[in-house]
This record gives sequence, structure tokens and C-alpha cells, in this order.
Amino acid sequence: MKIHEYQGKEILRSFDVPVPRGIPAFTVQEAVEAAQKLGGPVWVVKAQIHAGGRGKGGGVKLARSVEEVRALATEILGMQLVTHQTDAAGQKVRRLLIEEGADIKKEYYVSAVTDRATQRVALMASSEGGMDIEEVAHATPEKIIKVFVDPAVGLTDAQAKELADGMTVPAASTAECIDVLKKLYKVYMDTDASLVEINPLVLEGNGHIKALDAKFNFDPNALFRHPELVAYRDLDEEDQAEIEASKFDLAYISLDGNIGCLVNGAGLAMATMDTIKLFGGEPANFLDVGGGATAEKVTEAFKIMLKNPEVKGILVNIFGGIMKCDTIAGGVIAACKAVNLSVPLVVRMKGTNEDLGKKMLADSGLPIIAANTMAEAAQAAVKAVSTAKA
Ligand code: ADP
Ligand code: MG
Repeated sequence: MKIHEYQGKEILRSFDVPVPRGIPAFTVQEAVEAAQKLGGPVWVVKAQIHAGGRGKGGGVKLARSVEEVRALATEILGMQLVTHQTDAAGQKVRRLLIEEGADIKKEYYVSAVTDRATQRVALMASSEGGMDIEEVAHATPEKIIKVFVDPAVGLTDAQAKELADGMTVPAASTAECIDVLKKLYKVYMDTDASLVEINPLVLEGNGHIKALDAKFNFDPNALFRHPELVAYRDLDEEDQAEIEASKFDLAYISLDGNIGCLVNGAGLAMATMDTIKLFGGEPANFLDVGGGATAEKVTEAFKIMLKNPEVKGILVNIFGGIMKCDTIAGGVIAACKAVNLSVPLVVRMKGTNEDLGKKMLADSGLPIIAANTMAEAAQAAVKAVSTAKA
């Protein structure tokens, strides 16, 4: 689960990590009031969306008067902000963070992630923080320093100093930087985060260290013990189809293609998408209906897939194990009737009561294209959507 920067900064503040004073705003009027409350002379107006790269996309701007804050808030609120982390349409800005402008002497990069290879939390830092960190990681990876933290010991002073030195923090600010790094490790552990990224962490003109940006991801498996984090969830930032699917316990991910896929089991769903691609098609989604694919769930799955106007055909690929093929066939028939299916439907089923299931589909009178193998099914789906397009 992701949260907004201003929420991330609330968390940092509660762990005593220094951040600029700032106030979130949902309207232009609130932005103006926030600026007045903070006082000048410099403010930063920051678009709040669940994607990075806002600065380069025009979503982070400096203001030198309250009137300028008003003008920028008017410009940024409601805009479709396109960054390298959004899709081409961008994300609508519904919230702002009005913040005091920091006196930046140097921008560093710091992040924490769980490293699967070492099974430890990796802390990464760089002297080259700011808006071009991706380029730094790509062109000069040696400028990113990593330490791996022993969970029984925590981040040691020596490790934190190694990071601070690698960041080229001046001697006078090293102790403060070490303190901030140790607090960041604690934030990561205590919130069950899967990513904490501070880019930039800055050295101010007065020698103090401050977090100017805050990006958090949390492990969804641990959210049950963090109601305070769940309260930060912003459904406007999430895919509507995915939210709807989660209500019915369907694992659904929106994709860019035009073949809707309904499959039971994540592995089979991945294989199905691969096979579609192999034959030149593009899946419109990943959808795992799970083990208990009841008629109700299949119907909801059809409805969710069909809300996407790009879907020009559907491929159902089911392995009848615990759930028998005739039960699935019943579900598919009921779903087709319930949604008045108007796009071509290819069904491939294998497993228990396969023959009975196939007979039910054939006898249903519905224009279902039956396939015996995955290759056959994928080819039929690709052909069906290309004919539909023409
Ligand atoms: P993003 O990473 O999405 O582009 P950031 O919050 O990192 O957004 O802001 C982009 C840049 O704007 C930062 O690298 C920094 O140079 C500048 N910036 C952000 N917040 C402030 C602030 N409070 N004061 C001064 N400059 C800021
Ligand atoms: Mg940033």
C-alpha cells in the first residue's frame, strides 16, 4: 500500500525525523490559508499523487508570495500530472502539500528496502540525490552505497557512518546524519514498510539534515496490525477495477491489451498471458478467480473485465481440480447471460468432469468458442479480437 508524501512526513515527524513545516490542502483557499499560517518568504507547492517524478512533471513549484501560492495551487490542483511513474494519461491532482522552502546546500538520496538475496533490510545512500537518481543508478552505480542490516543488531553506528561518509556529508553534520539514518531504519521496521525512500535528504545552509521528500510502501500482509496506516489509504489513487475486484476476493490487475483473461490460479494466469503474447495478442488484465470460482464470482469477474472498453474478447482458461469443470461451465453460462455478453468468448477447460463441462457449454446455445489446448485457446482469442477490430 502506498501513501502520500504529506502522510509520510507525518510518520517521519512522529519518529523525530526532521522534515519541513507543511500543511496539506484540498482547495486553493486552503492552500492560501496554509501559506499564511506557515509564513514566508518562500513556499513550495507540491502535488500529492502516489507517483514520483512530480518535480520534473511540473507538480512541485516554488512560490515567493502568498499570491504566487494561490496561482500555483490553482494551476496544479485538478491537473493531470504525467510523470515517468504514471501512465500516459497521468494522475489527477486532488491534494496539495504547502511547505516552507528549505535552504538546500546539497541533496542526498537515502532508501530502505528488504533485500531478498541477503534476507536483510538494505539501506542505500548516495551523494547524488535529487531528481536524477534513476540516471545515477544506471550510469554510475558505484555512487550508490549499500549496507545490509542484521535484524538482531539493527543499524550500527559504523554502518550509518559508512553511509554518511559515502554521501559526503561534511564532518560537522555527520553525527546528525547518523542519527537520522538510525531513525529511518526504525521507521522502516516499526511500520512494516517495504520501501522508505527519502529523495532528497538535504543538507541545509545551517548544517542541519532534513527530509524533503518521503515515499513509503507498506507490506499489505502486515496492515492488520497498523490501522493507523490503513487510515491513510486514498482510493482515488488506486485502480477502480482493482478495488472492485478485491471486494469479491478476485486477484485482478489492469493491463493495456484487449483480451480479457479469466483464469483460476496465479501460475496458470501468468502462463495464459504469456501464451496470448506468444501468439501476438495483448492481455487486458491478470485475473485469478482462485480456488472457489463460484457462479457469482465468475459473473463479477466478467462484469469487471467488461467495464474496460478496450476489451474486445475474453479468454477463460480453467483447470478443474477442486472446482469441477461442470461447476465452472455453469458459472460461465450464468455469467454470460447475466452480463449479456457481446464480445467473443473462448473457453478452454481441463480436469475433473471436463467432458460434462464442455457439453454444457456446447448445449447452452451461447456463441462460445471451445478450445482444447492453451495454444489453441490463445490463438482463437487473438484471432477473435483481430476480427472484431477490423
Ligand atoms: P519528486 O521526487 O516527486 O519530484 P520532491 O518532493 O523530491 O518530488 O521534489 C522535487 C524537488 O523539489 C526536490 O528534489 C527539491 O529540489 C525540491 N523541493 C522539494 N521540496 C522542497 C522544499 N520544501 N524546499 C525547497 N525545495 C524543495
Ligand atoms: Mg523526490
